[in-house]
Formats: sequence, C-alpha cells, structure tokens
Amino acid sequence: MSHVMNTYGRLPVAFERGEGVWLWDTAGKRYLDALAGVAVCGLGHCHPRYTAALQAQAGKLVHTSNIYGITLQEQLADRLAALSGMDNVFFCNSGCEANEAAIKLARLYGHQKGIEAPAIVVLEHAFHGRTIATLSATGSRKVQAGFEPLVAGFVRVPFDDLEAVRRVAENNRNVVAVLVELIQGEGGVNVCQEGYLKGLREICNANGWLLMLDEVQSGIGRTGKWFAFQHSGVKPDVMSLAKGLGNGVPIGACIAAGPAAKLFKPGNHGSTFGGNPLVCAAALATLSIIEDEKLMQNAEAMGNFIRAELRERLAGLTGVRDIRGMGMMIGIELDKPCKDIVERALDAGLLINVTADNVVRLLPPLTYTREDALHLVDHLTPLIKDELAKQAAPQSAAA
Ligand SMILES: *Cc1c(COP(=O)(O)O)cnc(C)c1O
Repeated sequence: MSHVMNTYGRLPVAFERGEGVWLWDTAGKRYLDALAGVAVCGLGHCHPRYTAALQAQAGKLVHTSNIYGITLQEQLADRLAALSGMDNVFFCNSGCEANEAAIKLARLYGHQKGIEAPAIVVLEHAFHGRTIATLSATGSRKVQAGFEPLVAGFVRVPFDDLEAVRRVAENNRNVVAVLVELIQGEGGVNVCQEGYLKGLREICNANGWLLMLDEVQSGIGRTGKWFAFQHSGVKPDVMSLAKGLGNGVPIGACIAAGPAAKLFKPGNHGSTFGGNPLVCAAALATLSIIEDEKLMQNAEAMGNFIRAELRERLAGLTGVRDIRGMGMMIGIELDKPCKDIVERALDAGLLINVTADNVVRLLPPLTYTREDALHLVDHLTPLIKDELAKQAAPQSAAA
C-alpha cells in the first residue's frame, strides 16, 4: 500500500523519461503531452539548453539563503520587471504562495490607508490555490469544503461582470483590491471579454484599489504574450506567477508596480527556498529559450491552429458547446461530464485533462510543431465523438 497521502486521484501510469513533447512510461509506451504538467513544462521535457543550465548551476551553487545577496535572483527580477513593465519581485516556490504574497500586499496596503478589515474582490469559479487563504479566495466549494472556517476578507462576484464589481465599489468601503485570472484555468478555460480588464483598471483607479492578476497559469508565454494582460494594454499593480516560470523546478513570483512594489519591508514576508540560485538559473534559462525560439509566437499560432482544426472536425456536433481559449490554453466544453475521456486518451497515448467536469482542457508545451498539433487533433477528435455518442449514462454524482 502506498505511503503517499491520498490527495490526488492518480491515473494508472508513471513516466520514466521525457523528450520534447513526448513522455515514455515505465513500460516504454510513448505519449504525446498535451498538458505539460498542467501548464508547467512550456519548453517540453528535457530541453537541452534548459537541462544544461540546470546541470551547470547544480554543480556550482544550489542554495544559500535570502539573508545573503543572490545575484541570479537580482538578474531574474530585472528580467521579469523588464518583460512586465512592473517594478519589484518577491520570489517564492509555488502559485499559491505567489497569491499569498499578493493577498498580504493588499492587506498591508489597506492597513496603511487606515482600513482595519481590508477586503479583496474575487470571482466565481476562480482558482487561486489550496493554502487556507488562497482556498478562501478560490470560487469552488469542492476546494473549500471541510476546511472551514475560511479566511475572511474576500468578496465574491460573477466572472466577467463589471457591473457587479461597480456595485461592490459603491457598497463596500473595506475593499482594497481585486484579484482575478483573465483566463480561468481550473474554472473551465473561461476567457473574459475584451474590455473587462480595462473596465477593472478604471474601477481600481477610481476607488484606489490594487488591480491584482493571477497569471500563475496564463503567464510565461502560454497565451501568446509573456503575460495575458499584455493582450489588452492595461497594466496591473500586482501579478502572481509560478507554473511555467521554472519549467518544472518550483518557483513562484509576486510582481508589483508603483506604490505596491515598496510595501513590504524586512520582516513582513519571506521564504527559505524562495528564489534560490538553482531555481533562478532555471527560470532565466526558460525565459531566454522562450524568447530565442520565439515560443510565444509559436504558442499563438499553434493554439489558433488547434482550435481551428477542432472547430472544423467537431462542427455540427450538438454535444460540443464551445471551443475556446487563447494561445496554448484550450478548452472544449461538452454538454455533459466527460472525466472518462482522460483515461481513454491515456490508452490512445495522449495526455489531456478535464476540468470543471465538462471541459476538455489542453495545455500543450509551447514548442508544438504543426505535426504535433495534427497528431493531437487526429487522436483527440474520435475520443470526443465517442464520448458524445455514448449513452448519457448516469455519471457518478459523487465524483
Ligand atoms: C495552479 C494555479 C494556482 C496554484 O498554484 P500551486 O503552484 O499549485 O500552488 C494558483 N492560481 C492559478 C490560476 C493556478 O492555475
């Protein structure tokens, strides 16, 4: 029996080796990766230049402490500030921690304005992590159930609804910030309308709120730009990153601009591992490779290609409600729960995911070629057709 805590309903496969967009399991079977470790391995697996950077740094220096200067952390902060147009970075080890830092920044900001119980506007179907504060910010009862009492200080509004945010601004003097994903990943690849971010920026400006974006999943090239907000020309005050930043080594970042960038003082926040030399070397290599190999442009082109192919091949199927996304964040919404498709894809040598019960989610490496994209679509389309053709058998309601 396994001595690992039972926190994941794991699929019956374990991988031994990866190369580019392919993974091999312990029996030697090959799989096309269309999930990238859930939006982590944007470069694919064992990219030679990434591997070399990691190996070189491992042989030089892995960890010291944040009580000393860390040159690679300074370099990575400079790089992220330049790419985002923002100012200062706090380094941590995961997405939830990046959001924890954002939540702490917002509260500190509120207290400095004399607000004793600062609150943050969050959205329905949001996912911000599984620490106590970030699960409280998350808009999913499944994530929260059993862990009450939740952390106070979050005000929930519907996704993509500016009017609802305006009403909060009129009625709640304690609000100091909004925290949103521009494309909800776990929530079902929900893309907000053009104009939503601009509207949020205006509300934040008018009320002195911080505009905080959770780009843990959408950041680092996945949508076709470094960050999803860059499609709109609107800048946030705070942004959280993790997943794709280190291509598989644990690193998260909370980036702030303007006054928010100067809020933390020594003693306010910290992390033992955060931004150590090894993970910073990995992240610097990841960013350079994305830039040099034009992977953002590729993510945009391949994402559009995959969506167009899927639309064409699934056209006219009434069970397909929507095919959406941005760059290499792709969602195919069906009209019924479709969790089984993940295991059938596994049998077919394809790694995909289902989120929000009925959305097939694809988060491929940013490196896909046209051939990889066609392999994905060729193998996925029949699985979706089979799924829809199946009798609408009662899916286990408890799942
Ligand atoms: C995955 C994810 C998180 C949580 O990241 P962890 O590294 O698992 O803590 C937070 N926000 C979003 C948008 C995510 O997709």
